[in-house]
Amino acid sequence: MITVSAARKSYGDFLALDDVSLQIPDGSLTALLGPSGSGKSTLLRSIAGLEQLDAGTVTIMGRDVTRVAPQRRDIGFVFQHYAAFKHMTVRDNVAFGLKIRKRPKPEIARKVDDLLEIVGLGGFQHRYPAQLSGGQRQRMALARALAVDPQVLLLDEPFGALDAKVRGDLRAWLRRLHNEVKVTTVLVTHDQEEALDVADRIAVLNQGRIEQVGDPEELYDRPANDFVMSFLGSVS
Ligand code: ATP
Ligand code: MG
Repeated sequence: MITVSAARKSYGDFLALDDVSLQIPDGSLTALLGPSGSGKSTLLRSIAGLEQLDAGTVTIMGRDVTRVAPQRRDIGFVFQHYAAFKHMTVRDNVAFGLKIRKRPKPEIARKVDDLLEIVGLGGFQHRYPAQLSGGQRQRMALARALAVDPQVLLLDEPFGALDAKVRGDLRAWLRRLHNEVKVTTVLVTHDQEEALDVADRIAVLNQGRIEQVGDPEELYDRPANDFVMSFLGSVS
């Protein structure tokens, strides 16, 4: 369980997170959904322990993230524009985290084979990132983040830069991946269709506050207020 309790974060005079509380169950795929500037990335970075909150706490399995050394936080992070190691093949990119953790070679080989298979890049493992499409690169990023068996997978608009067709394909990949590797996942998106399609829980953010948390049907059928209703109903 990830527990965000009364999180508050300001940048100067601007309140980016305004008393945010949220519980994210183990094994869930939770979307943080909201318009640009609503505080999604700030909340995600806070969950990763990358933001110093002004008030409130984030705990993962009961431990305050800011009190755990960064290399022990056990968190996989994928960003919109993923920075791969350009001089390494797909295979070496995925294996990197395991190599620096000095895992035994046969274990690394097995793990990397499995992950490349799951994300459908088995045939691309000897290519370099520059020789992949944007969607393939994001799948590599997912495999790389998952290689070290993180407790938590955090995704900040990982498909945001891609066209609608590829985004749709990647949603299906993410769903499949999540069903196979039941890692607790938090997906930031401003795309309500993506959230409704892929997440099993959605937290709707607006101006640094959480407007509603629920499963997709609940939000769609019983929006808590006008904001949720119009945001879910709008087409991006
Ligand atoms: P987007 O969909 O555009 O990525 P978001 O929901 O992820 O938006 P955040 O990046 O969390 O929004 O930002 C929330 C608010 O905090 C924004 O108004 C932003 O300008 C402000 N903000 C975020 N980071 C900083 C920073 N380092 N310094 C100053 N203001 C910031
Ligand atoms: Mg953002």
